[in-house]
Amino acid sequence: MSAPDFAAALLAWYDAGHRALPWRDTRDPYAIWVSEVMLQQTRAETVIGYYQHFLKRFPSVSALADAPEQELLKAWEGLGYYSRARNLQKAAKRIVSEHGGSLPSDAHALAALPGIGPYTAGAVASMAFGQCTAAVDGNVERVIARVAGIREEVTVPSVRRAIRAHADALVPAERPGDFNNAMMELGARVCVPGTPDCEACPVRARCDAHREGDADALPVKRRARAPLVENRGVAIVRWGGRVLVQRRSERMLNGMWQFPNALNASQPDALLRALRLSAEWAGEAGEAKHVFTHRVWEMRLHKFIAQSPLEISECRWVDASGLDELPLPTAMRAAKKAAKDWLKEDITHA
Ligand code: SF4
Repeated sequence: MSAPDFAAALLAWYDAGHRALPWRDTRDPYAIWVSEVMLQQTRAETVIGYYQHFLKRFPSVSALADAPEQELLKAWEGLGYYSRARNLQKAAKRIVSEHGGSLPSDAHALAALPGIGPYTAGAVASMAFGQCTAAVDGNVERVIARVAGIREEVTVPSVRRAIRAHADALVPAERPGDFNNAMMELGARVCVPGTPDCEACPVRARCDAHREGDADALPVKRRARAPLVENRGVAIVRWGGRVLVQRRSERMLNGMWQFPNALNASQPDALLRALRLSAEWAGEAGEAKHVFTHRVWEMRLHKFIAQSPLEISECRWVDASGLDELPLPTAMRAAKKAAKDWLKEDITHA
């Protein structure tokens, strides 16, 4: 099967019934870019609602460039990997100042912008501007490793370059964007991790792994490191009808709001010491767990009653509606619920 035959077979399969996703109905480079950034670490079904809300809230590159950071993080709340949102805005500012507010059409110029890697650059260049370039994400990497019979570790840079070259060689001049979408769709629905459904595959006549019978062993990957488990105490500190929240300055979740928390301080005394707070313990508020890419937070939640409305830098006292207005990461969802439940109860201060 030649490259044109491969593309024809794949596009015919795609045209016969692909998933309807809103970003596939547009050629607007800004909308496609936003969708691709959201899709980097989040499932398509989850992205749909965020994508629609985000475009309504920030309808253009300049609206995004001018957005207050807290509003941007709020619109991103729940999607995780918040550096994506910040980079999106940094790139929007550069597009306004260096490209007159319009995304450049060339994949190299796109890849020079913050947060836009070769995959996103290829996706936007092909889908919005019809450029003949591949968009290689994890799905496409797997398909190419199998089709081309690449049996070396795919994270090795030279192997990655070889996969990229194979992918570029397959992209047709006609409908390159649809072709890239079709490759991703094939990887998501048919050429799945583990055992692929080769009988349903439109390109099996061109597939080396299918011929050799080792598709389930490809792509070859180094085993991922086990995530680091962190035990954390989380403090829900209350004064009257408000609770204490703190703006994070750490690299991870920077700019998001959280309940004060500390590593290896799951007991109330240790937690107060670590946070340098003086407050009265008012009971446990359960446990919670959040899995990040390389670490897991195992959290024990405690309620405290403050002895005064402390003034602490980067902290704020907020009521229940204030909790809804601030961008809080998903890791704080259980603590937020516990705080809101507690705020419905009356308390007396000593
Ligand atoms: Fe993947 Fe099987 Fe199709 Fe090859 S034939 S691309 S292994 S689904």
